[in-house]
Amino acid sequence: MRRRGTDPTRFVADAMLGSLARKLRALGFDTTYYRTGGDQGLLDAAVQERRVILTSDRALAAAAGKRNVTALLMAGRSDGDRVSAIAAAYRRMGVPLARSDPFCSLCGGELEALRRADVAGRVPGSVERRHRAFFRCAACDKLYWRGSHWKKLRSLARRLS
Ligand SMILES: [Zn+2]
Repeated sequence: MRRRGTDPTRFVADAMLGSLARKLRALGFDTTYYRTGGDQGLLDAAVQERRVILTSDRALAAAAGKRNVTALLMAGRSDGDRVSAIAAAYRRMGVPLARSDPFCSLCGGELEALRRADVAGRVPGSVERRHRAFFRCAACDKLYWRGSHWKKLRSLARRLS
């Protein structure tokens, strides 16, 4: 795992793992989602950006190994299983799985905190009344608040510890 050149807190997910990539971003992992360009392009991106590859493709995982790039084979049926598998792999290798603040699940941009007054008219009235803390993606402008998806994320986060 602690192979030279790989940053263990950054991931690149293959094209089959888009929903996992979105959840990992929301959990606070810098994660890109590689949709086009094939295995070779994904490997090149992993090397250049020093990312750990997440893939369900054994051939890609093997090719990564040959290039000395860390790849975790994702075999679980659900994203929850996959998050557990990532945590287990890091534990086995004794590498801390450090999270940062949540990123935008859509684009991976950084989130900035907003107050209720800042989002007036931009979110449904019921949401505005029920919540105090809001977040805005600095890159794509999407707004977030701690609604039902937040609770799901917290249960997903428990799989990391
Ligand atoms: Zn965004």
